[in-house]
Amino acid sequence: MGENDYFVLRGSVVLADGILEEGMVVIRGDRIAYVGSPLSRFTNPWRELAVSGYIWPGLIDLHVHGAGGADVMDATPKSLSTISRTLARHGVTGFLATTVTMPKSRLEQVFNNVAEATPSLEGARVLGIHLEGPWICPNHRGAQNPEYIVDPDPEEAMWALKNSRGMLRVVTMAPERPKGMETVRLLASKGVIVSIGHSGATYEQALSAMDAGATQVTHCFNGMTGLHHRSPGIAGAVMTEDRLYAELIADGFHVHPAVVKLLAKLKGDDKLILISDGIRAVGMPDGEYELGGLPVFAREGKVVLADGSLAGSRLTLDQAVRNMVRFAGIPLWKAVRMASLVPARRLGLDGDLGSLETGKRADLVVTDESCHVRQVWIRGKRVYDRDTAGD
Ligand SMILES: [Zn+2]
Repeated sequence: MGENDYFVLRGSVVLADGILEEGMVVIRGDRIAYVGSPLSRFTNPWRELAVSGYIWPGLIDLHVHGAGGADVMDATPKSLSTISRTLARHGVTGFLATTVTMPKSRLEQVFNNVAEATPSLEGARVLGIHLEGPWICPNHRGAQNPEYIVDPDPEEAMWALKNSRGMLRVVTMAPERPKGMETVRLLASKGVIVSIGHSGATYEQALSAMDAGATQVTHCFNGMTGLHHRSPGIAGAVMTEDRLYAELIADGFHVHPAVVKLLAKLKGDDKLILISDGIRAVGMPDGEYELGGLPVFAREGKVVLADGSLAGSRLTLDQAVRNMVRFAGIPLWKAVRMASLVPARRLGLDGDLGSLETGKRADLVVTDESCHVRQVWIRGKRVYDRDTAGD
């Protein structure tokens, strides 16, 4: 690669600890070659894009089921490719392919598809698998199909570890169920992130799960008991225990903006992870869709079951960042960090991903002044450009 083989982006650079106004990011090959104030040696109008907006690191979604009409559970290369391309349009450069409660035979198909289809994806990269269910509590199932919910079992966890072909990163489960704590211990010992969710655990049980190795809480406040002053539950545990990371769906429907603000105050910008929990209906018109074998209805920005309860979201991660600034009153760089560096750290990939730093992979997002995505670069290649995308 020649000395002149580079591309320059100029704009307000969103760093992990602040914003550099009128900054410069230089991409060479698939890496970031320079981040900082403009350098004259990189001045070449033919290789430069100057924007009046921002340059963000690529976003990482640890909890997303689908987008653009496709679902991870479809277990086809075409669906995974659709999700990958749709997420990229919203600034996501890496994600965990997230399952829902389904029989093992179906999960096995999903594992195989993810392993086989991942290398050829052209948009957001799959960074692993998030297994949401089937080891959850039927009373806190949300939109998970009750027909396939089972109690946790270390043997089943071993099955998932073996069959996911080394890609299992997060398991959402209910630790209070029979054999739950044993299962938490086993998964944690194998390096899998155990996230407490779709669970009726009490505060005490949540602490026990934490002692057994759980380090995260899945979509805080959703799929668990609410915060009650005499029975604080999982919500109380996540708000008081610094060791627990908190996933949050910041769409304004799943959690009231005031509670979003509360959680941001308590967890800070190192322990709060913005997720989308997006499903097939993301980026699609209103109408009827399917989730885990159940009919769901997309309308007014939400997705609901027939009984009106929320069923996943239509949120995109770039919108979550914008919402977070508005709901919690935090600076943009903090909101971006909650959707980039924090999830990258969770996956142990922050040496390579998650922030704009020299030497890291050139996964980045160019936005306009209102933080809407204009361009997305993955591994130094422009994979999305709003001006030429025809919308
Ligand atoms: Zn989910």
